Amino acid sequence: MFSFKEIAQVTGGMLVQCPGAYPVQHLLTDSRKIANAVSSVFFAIRGEFHDGHQYLPELYEAGVRQFVVEDASGLMDLSTYPEANFLLVSNSVQALQRLAAYHRRKFHIPVIGITGSNGKTIVKEWLAQLLSVSERVVKSPRSYNSQIGVPLSVWQINESHTVGVFEAGISQPEEMAHLASVLQPTLGVFTNLGPAHDEGFASTAQKLEEKLKLFEHVQQLVYCADQATVREAVQQAGLPGFGWSTQGHPSAQVQLNVLEMHQGKTKVRFRYAGQGQDLVLPFSDEASLENALHCLAALLYLGVKPEELPARFERLAPVAMRLERKEAINGCYVIDDTYNNDLAGLRIALDVLGQQARRGRKTLIVSDLLEAGVEEKALYQQVAQEVTARGVDRVIGIGDIITRHQDLFPAGSEFYLGTDSFLGQLRSETFRQETILVKGARIFQFEKIVAALQQQVHGTVLEVNLDALVHNLNYYRSKVPGPTKIMVMVKAFAYGAGSYEIGNLLQFHRVDYLAVAYTDEGVALREHGITLPIMVMNPSPDSFLKMQQYSLEPEIYSPDLLHRFLDYFPEKSPQTPAIHLKLDTGMHRLGFDDAELEEALAVLDQVPHVRVQSVFSHLAGADEALYNDFTREQIARFRQMSAKVEQGLGYSVTKHILNSAGIVRFGEEAAFDMVRLGIGLYGVESSGSEQSSLQTVGQLKTTVSQVKSIKAGDTVGYSRRGIATTHKQTATIAIGYADGYDRRFGNGVGEVLINGQRAPIIGNVCMDMCMVDVTGLDVRAGDEVLVFGEELPLTELAARIGTIPYELLTNVSTRVKRVFFNA
Ligand SMILES: *Cc1c(COP(=O)(O)O)cnc(C)c1O
Repeated sequence: MFSFKEIAQVTGGMLVQCPGAYPVQHLLTDSRKIANAVSSVFFAIRGEFHDGHQYLPELYEAGVRQFVVEDASGLMDLSTYPEANFLLVSNSVQALQRLAAYHRRKFHIPVIGITGSNGKTIVKEWLAQLLSVSERVVKSPRSYNSQIGVPLSVWQINESHTVGVFEAGISQPEEMAHLASVLQPTLGVFTNLGPAHDEGFASTAQKLEEKLKLFEHVQQLVYCADQATVREAVQQAGLPGFGWSTQGHPSAQVQLNVLEMHQGKTKVRFRYAGQGQDLVLPFSDEASLENALHCLAALLYLGVKPEELPARFERLAPVAMRLERKEAINGCYVIDDTYNNDLAGLRIALDVLGQQARRGRKTLIVSDLLEAGVEEKALYQQVAQEVTARGVDRVIGIGDIITRHQDLFPAGSEFYLGTDSFLGQLRSETFRQETILVKGARIFQFEKIVAALQQQVHGTVLEVNLDALVHNLNYYRSKVPGPTKIMVMVKAFAYGAGSYEIGNLLQFHRVDYLAVAYTDEGVALREHGITLPIMVMNPSPDSFLKMQQYSLEPEIYSPDLLHRFLDYFPEKSPQTPAIHLKLDTGMHRLGFDDAELEEALAVLDQVPHVRVQSVFSHLAGADEALYNDFTREQIARFRQMSAKVEQGLGYSVTKHILNSAGIVRFGEEAAFDMVRLGIGLYGVESSGSEQSSLQTVGQLKTTVSQVKSIKAGDTVGYSRRGIATTHKQTATIAIGYADGYDRRFGNGVGEVLINGQRAPIIGNVCMDMCMVDVTGLDVRAGDEVLVFGEELPLTELAARIGTIPYELLTNVSTRVKRVFFNA
């Protein structure tokens, strides 16, 4: 076992204080994910948007006693951490990597390092599945492949493991050399070279050269010899290539023929070292085939006998990376994680459960774990410990192994031998107001449990990609100077995306403020456990007391509203909410003009118990370059007026004027102290110039209810507006104007995407359904229909009916179920 002093030696850091000998078991890089405080070492990392050093007091308070820091001056007074060990290093990420590299060197096992543009995670998961038949495998959890993720993955290796499978991903030059020194792979797999993450590199050639640095010391490198650029680069770099080819390329060691590929199966024949074998893969798409063939070559190299391969590949199961969150019965909320149920995967899912700010109980439904190399009892001891450390209130264990170890779990936990016996006794009142993490190995078929817990709703869903949302948040953060605060507009149900879940995510990612339109929206956020400061833009005077009760801060935009506010909070009334002054600089919607501002300042001068938290204004034309001059005038006027406010008040206040489009155009010059991010967070770049930097957040999907054949001359739908001029096939889809699908899309104006094919709306849009023309397309009842999303952008659809993306987003009715996921 490591000691803190050993970390000092390995990393070359300086021990500045070391009063205690604590166990070193867990490496912690995120202050929000403490599971075992006393045995954790916290690495304070400076990121682009956060500085880990900021959270030392919070961590100390939570019981963490071991810290690796870059800057002792930030700590000032070490006596406020009397029991803590401190190690001072020049770079915390590097220290983490050195520690992991040192740990890695202790184990003389084969380690497979995987990189490439696509398929890394799937190849890693599949290799682990395929090898686990005969080996005890340690692997990266999910897609932990970054400068921080790789060391954390490698840290998991212990004496019991016989092979390691890890992925490595980079976004900039120089990064791979660090990852190579941590992983020290003995076998490499290069999946492929695509356009992903091109931004950080000068050229594709440079990117390829960088990626290949992972393999400088491998014994063999598995790659596809049919990819000419990769093949040539491997040869040029003098790497020991172990190629496979489906096209008979002579340099490949493994020669393959794809014999058949249809209806979910692919039959391939391979020849290697004079032996041949047929095998059947349980899928029929090109991407899966490529991933599987990498695995096949790796297994052959590792010496698995050809005749053993068919049985292993037959059971290859798809990798579910998505961790979905859904509303469920009786005010419950389900987190559905079908990713492999091993200890590392469970830990990550428990972190997600812990991040739910929602009030109420936290429940875990968990199956037997698939974990190699840990003695059964020790494994469930660890599970029980993790569960307790994260404050899970209720555990339901399913499977005979976990049931065998039920004594290790807190009293009140329930155990069932199988999924069906759990479902057999399940009644809907069993769960109420709880967040339920459902985490089961595939064979347990926990999707049945999720289906039973889910709310019964029709098949239309708005899928919200939370990773894309965080990407967009960080994109806007990068457009403004470092210290600028971010207020996020979560009005109108967070632009339709779902205010509670989005609010919780934003709180986790440490934005500074939220803003809503009405008091009720703020109250709902508070009731779901959101503690960020919240501004309310249209506070009606009769809600002022409620605002005080829920710590909401009103926007005050007129002398009249200011007086009404003071009626509720007369002189020296305690806990008067802070207020935000809105200035009218040209939008002419709400806000004080010059004269009214004079009046307001005179009033405020008399009521020192009212604190002005911020002063702000709104841009009228930031989304169009045509109005740049006008926008600059607004900014200048704001500068003047806000200076007057600060002068009048005698103290400084937070100043802000930029919305999403404003951030893109004027983020550098006019960010002031804070910016107000709205539509951009949800993936629409409204100035139009940088759309490609954002990721799609929301995808509205529905299903085909029925397919019909229509004779020439017949009509479709109400008022007989859809006329079949020729023989047609139509599909009825389960979305209508009551779901927010605009009637203006009727009669050929709108299109949807079914199986990747565009289909126009035929006839009028009905309340709950509409019909689309699928003549000549391959469409069946039950097929998924994309209404808007990645391949059918909101901007295009909005333009078709003469509106803006904001309207389409906020129109999605609340009866449409929101499903949140991380990619
Ligand atoms: C809605 C709103 C925003 C955000 O606007 P986007 O165009 O969505 O970025 C900013 N400020 C105010 C006052 C708003 O009402």
